[in-house]
Amino acid sequence: MAIRKIVKEGDPVLRKKSRPVEEINSRILTLLDDMGDTLYDSNGVGLAAPQVGILRRVVVIDVGEGLIELINPEILSTDGEQDGSEGCLSIPEKYGFVLRPNYVKVKALNREGVAFEMEGTGLLARAFCHEIDHLNGELFIDKVSRFLTDEELEEMSEE
Ligand code: ZN
Repeated sequence: MAIRKIVKEGDPVLRKKSRPVEEINSRILTLLDDMGDTLYDSNGVGLAAPQVGILRRVVVIDVGEGLIELINPEILSTDGEQDGSEGCLSIPEKYGFVLRPNYVKVKALNREGVAFEMEGTGLLARAFCHEIDHLNGELFIDKVSRFLTDEELEEMSEE
């Protein structure tokens, strides 16, 4: 268990496409453990492997309901839309509005290699989209309709 360094915007690794995990070996399990530690250390909602410099399709998410680990996640279906502010551990101090589906159903493998499906609405749906975008080299700033102003950021930090 270890906290890994989070790669920041400007590092080319964030713009590369991650490869699927073909075998869930001890390196992948250690990566999952470390990504969980790193997520909690940084008080984030989600973290994708390229954000710690590893181009593998691995994601961890916690929207306050426990840690979700996704290996090779894929979006199966989406519905509705939500417009809300979004941030990223790799792009500190920038927040902006991004239109996302309000419902997202994903499939993935768990750490035992068992396939499962999971549905999310609201923040979880947003996190699924944001983290899977990372695996394709996409960042939320590509999709932002408007960045939050300094005043709006101050209001957020007071809450
Ligand atoms: Zn991010």
